[in-house]
Amino acid sequence: MSQTNQVERIIIIGSGPAAWTAAIYAARANLGPLVFAGRPKTVPTTLLPGGQLMMTTEVENYPGFPEGISGPEMMSHFEQQAVRFETRIVTDSGVNPDVSNANDGHSYSYHDCKQVNLSKRPFIVIGEDDTEYRTHALVIATGATAKWMGLENEQRLARSGGGVSACAVCDGALPVFRDKVLAVVGGGDSAVEEAMYLTRFASKVYMIHRRDQLRASKIMAKRAMDNPKIEILWNKIVVDVLGDDKITGVMLKDTKTGGESPLDVGGLFMAIGHTPATAFLEGQLELDEKNYIKLKDPYRSTTSIDGVFAAGDCADSVYRQAVTAAGMGCKAAIDAERWLAEQEAE
Ligand code: NAP
Repeated sequence: MSQTNQVERIIIIGSGPAAWTAAIYAARANLGPLVFAGRPKTVPTTLLPGGQLMMTTEVENYPGFPEGISGPEMMSHFEQQAVRFETRIVTDSGVNPDVSNANDGHSYSYHDCKQVNLSKRPFIVIGEDDTEYRTHALVIATGATAKWMGLENEQRLARSGGGVSACAVCDGALPVFRDKVLAVVGGGDSAVEEAMYLTRFASKVYMIHRRDQLRASKIMAKRAMDNPKIEILWNKIVVDVLGDDKITGVMLKDTKTGGESPLDVGGLFMAIGHTPATAFLEGQLELDEKNYIKLKDPYRSTTSIDGVFAAGDCADSVYRQAVTAAGMGCKAAIDAERWLAEQEAE
């Protein structure tokens, strides 16, 4: 295991809106942030550079883009803005300051952070090649991953913008879904919320649930059942997603009878939960019962360890929006900057 000579002032782990915003603010505060942006693995089921927005075809609810912008393009803008202020990124070819063509076919890959040691200061961040980086302050902005069913055609059509999405609030208002019959998979509060949201645009929304009872809270469940545009298909799982370039339907299997039947839909939304990307923190930082990072103060980015700050979906199970994540990233960089100044003054 090798160790870099320098102790960083701030390391940021992640590369979604929270991480790049933290980097922009930290860089402009002359903290020289170093970013672990992650490595694409078997997208889209694991973390990837750019985060969940890399799976979003069109972002229409981020202020400042009146015509909308694609998720990957937006993340490329975020990254370029961070790099413009001399954010450094850990890559295959070392710590690379020359990342101005980020996401545009450069020949190296970004590195993942494999492990952290927060038990003493400076904190240790271990990269995927086992290099140890030391840092005074740490911002964790690793995001969360929407759960997918894991079907081949689901993944293919999600990647290609073929009408399969894990975020109705992000994608549901797109013209492609207007006046269509849509389906939401799941029976929790998110599924109800997403189905209700989609009824504003869709001609009809099916909720496909694997049991005969919703997991959603009573009030939410009642709303779904009372909504004339929502029909709940009980005891059904999706076993295939149909369509070449665009989704045309799903193949359903009845969990009681085992019988299969096709259902025509023009859009499919997964609402089967999210997993925060915090497994690498287990035992080191306080997490809540669903493994989201616990913020010491809900209005700040401080965590159970002084000098460690959290931002974005890894610390937020409620809002999960690009704009809220970016806001949290800003808070984390400001909190880190102030904390570093206090430490340096002591
Ligand atoms: P959740 O409560 O965990 O519900 C996930 C749903 O997806 C469950 O109905 C589950 O089925 C189903 N599911 C899981 N894996 C599946 C699979 N592989 N195939 C098919 N179905 C699958 O998740 P959530 O709805 O995202 O909510 C997360 C938390 O946020 C909850 O505490 C919720 O109350 C809260 N929340 C609150 C609000 C609100 O109050 N407005 C809105 C959104 C979320 P089973 O029921 O059979 O397990």
